[in-house]
Amino acid sequence: MKSIRQLYKAGIGPSSSHSMGPKNAALRFKDSLPHNVSRIQAELYGSLAATGKGHLTDKALEAVFQGWTFEIVWRPDVFLPHHPCGLRLKALDQNGKILAEQLFYSIGGGDLADQDGKPLDVAYPDYPVSGIEDVLAWCRAEHHPIWQFADQHEGAELWDYLRAIWKTMCEAISRGLMPEDPILPGGLNLARRAPAMMACANERVGIQRDLNLLAAYALAVSEENAAGHTVATAPTCGSCGIVPAVLYYFEKHYRLPTRIILQALATAGVFGSSVAKRASISGAEIGCQGEVGTACAMAAAAAAQLLDGTPEQIEYAAEMALEHMLGLTCDPINGLVQIPCIERNAVAAMRAVECASYALATDGRHRISFDEVVEVMKKTGLDLQSDYKETALGGLARIAHKK
Ligand code: SF4
Repeated sequence: MKSIRQLYKAGIGPSSSHSMGPKNAALRFKDSLPHNVSRIQAELYGSLAATGKGHLTDKALEAVFQGWTFEIVWRPDVFLPHHPCGLRLKALDQNGKILAEQLFYSIGGGDLADQDGKPLDVAYPDYPVSGIEDVLAWCRAEHHPIWQFADQHEGAELWDYLRAIWKTMCEAISRGLMPEDPILPGGLNLARRAPAMMACANERVGIQRDLNLLAAYALAVSEENAAGHTVATAPTCGSCGIVPAVLYYFEKHYRLPTRIILQALATAGVFGSSVAKRASISGAEIGCQGEVGTACAMAAAAAAQLLDGTPEQIEYAAEMALEHMLGLTCDPINGLVQIPCIERNAVAAMRAVECASYALATDGRHRISFDEVVEVMKKTGLDLQSDYKETALGGLARIAHKK
């Protein structure tokens, strides 16, 4: 399983696979270039080309290659073997001679793989377990909660790292609740809804207030992401509103100390890392079930822990959240991380708390394990037609094309 520090990353939205990953690839490529480069060419393949404009891939690359002549060749109909998001960078001299060339894959969550599909920039060692069943076995044997599993394998520096991630999440919520620009960029003229949702929450009581609060926080972060501002992947940019919304709701309205919130963030990370390792968190590879589905499971696990759930109840909450997101397609309109993405984050934040509440009404025993659902999600995602995997060719994106 991946380290949770590999999973949570602060960066610029709107897409970890389409803007953050390509930017990282460009920075890496730029570092290796000789002095006599006059022109840079990027070839984008598959999903990266199909939705790259809406996801601001071109802007992310242009920012890195400022000062050179830069061009992009969009090849949405070409899918390379190891992942749907392929990117080839070439550096040329003034006579058109290729001085350097490198192929990358943007594999989700801002991470990269090389031309053979081997992950690059793995800064932290993997955990020596294959999935959540192993983590639960460790919890039972050691009589420890799930978050201590992360602590045991990452050491004390984990907490400073998570504190910085939590700060990024909270700042995104604050900015998103009081944005400077009421309309999101990209051409859909979509109005930000977080402030109005928050105002509505403040006028209501009981369950309506709580649901509106969760939605407002999730909208705030997702709208910041859509605006291309700083967010933290959880596990991706497209799904970055769900975990912060649930944690912020508990911190503020249950008056929980930051230490307890960070422990819940660690537990959420253990579930997200397990999915990243055993299946995928890339919408281009397995659809939105891998992004919003995974984020919903992470947030459900965090919520169950904050409600004093046992490790088994926490695992049940996460399993339930993911199970009922199986098959969720990725079909963003105009390739923008806006419709259905933003509203979907709000719905998933509310769903996560429902799943936690349900799981805590049981003893945690259930038929299908989290690891089994992850296996099913992977198979389902691979079976999905590419139209439903971040190409903006099917589903909601297709309806929009007809209008
Ligand atoms: S539909 Fe889901 S997976 Fe696709 S871009 Fe939006 S949030 Fe990401």
